[in-house]
Amino acid sequence: MFGIQPIHIVIIILVAFLIFGASRLPEIGRALGKSISEFRKGTKEAAEGFKQEMGQTDKTPASTAQPYAPPPAQPIPPASAQPARPTGNFCIHCGAPNLPEAQYCANCGMKMPDKVA
Ligand SMILES: [Zn+2]
Repeated sequence: MFGIQPIHIVIIILVAFLIFGASRLPEIGRALGKSISEFRKGTKEAAEGFKQEMGQTDKTPASTAQPYAPPPAQPIPPASAQPARPTGNFCIHCGAPNLPEAQYCANCGMKMPDKVA
């Protein structure tokens, strides 16, 4: 705080020694020590408060920290997109399914292979 370092405290004590004299130094020392102790107490409380906040954060399960998001639904093709009758009669040219009696591919128009009885 305010860039105070131990060397500064030593200088302050020396200045106080010169100003007030050795007889009053213990009194000044107690006042200075009280200030330092209170400063450290406040720092400790601040640190503990910070730790408590961190502890609360750690105690919070990650599963509840994030709202549950269901996975995106897989796109389901409409039933109309499926062939009305799976025939197994696939076009040799484009692979499109065709009716068993189809002579020409409904997709590419190519002639379907002749059935072999
Ligand atoms: Zn075809």
